[in-house]
Amino acid sequence: SIIIETHDISKVYRMGAETINALKSVSISINKGEYVAFMGPSGSGKSTFMNIIGCLDTPTGGTYILNGQDVSNMTDNELAEVRNKEIGFVFQTFNLLPRQSSLENVALPLIYAGYSKSEREERAQKALESVGLGTRGKHKPNELSGGQRQRVAIARALINDPSIILADEPTGNLDTKTSYEIMELFENLHAKGNTIIMVTHEEDIARYAHRIVRLRDGLVESDTLNPDVTTAA
Ligand code: ADP
Ligand code: ADP
Repeated sequence: SIIIETHDISKVYRMGAETINALKSVSISINKGEYVAFMGPSGSGKSTFMNIIGCLDTPTGGTYILNGQDVSNMTDNELAEVRNKEIGFVFQTFNLLPRQSSLENVALPLIYAGYSKSEREERAQKALESVGLGTRGKHKPNELSGGQRQRVAIARALINDPSIILADEPTGNLDTKTSYEIMELFENLHAKGNTIIMVTHEEDIARYAHRIVRLRDGLVESDTLNPDVTTAA
């Protein structure tokens, strides 16, 4: 089934007298369980597109249907609600709270979902276990390696069972070996049925996705299945 559907999405930024057509017309359809990498040169519209897909911003024109719901014209509050329910974010810089333990960081999204403290801790512990950090719950971010921090962030992204995991340059701050470990984790999540959307400028990282979409000048330049991965799946 289709989880993301955009029809002729455009985004115009206005800066004084100047207008920038960051997205011209992007129509794309992504099925539940797909693992897609978005690539493209700087300024091609990747961040703009991800912000719209992640319900952080709305398009100027066109429609965006997320999990059957038209989110194109929602207010900021409506978008925030959809975001909390549907999207798990993973960032280049991890974005963990430095004074909170791993367990507390992972449990944070559950506070808004109305779980009790013991339920939150139990679920967060299981999520940490699922990323291989079951014994690191009490550690604070500065007591963990970069790869472990990103695993904590991934556990946090998973905790509400989101429809989509949206990862923006998830290996941008990691060394090569650790980057591949994170890609193996993504591969496992994909194998479990998670939908993963990733932005990366690294070909070696994009290779892990089963579909690669390239943007250029606010348009889709190419959209291809990755034969290496697709035949194996
Ligand atoms: P990418 O992520 O591929 O580098 P962006 O989506 O960040 O591309 O940018 C696409 C175009 O939109 C660029 O020309 C950029 O300068 C412009 N742009 C992005 N965000 C804004 C903004 N908030 N205000 C004005 N222009 C923007
Ligand atoms: P398995 O290890 O059998 O593949 P999972 O790793 O999917 O199973 O789940 C292990 C445990 O983690 C389960 O008890 C499940 O309830 C919990 N869990 C899995 N995903 C999430 C999530 N997104 N949020 C909270 N708990 C989760």
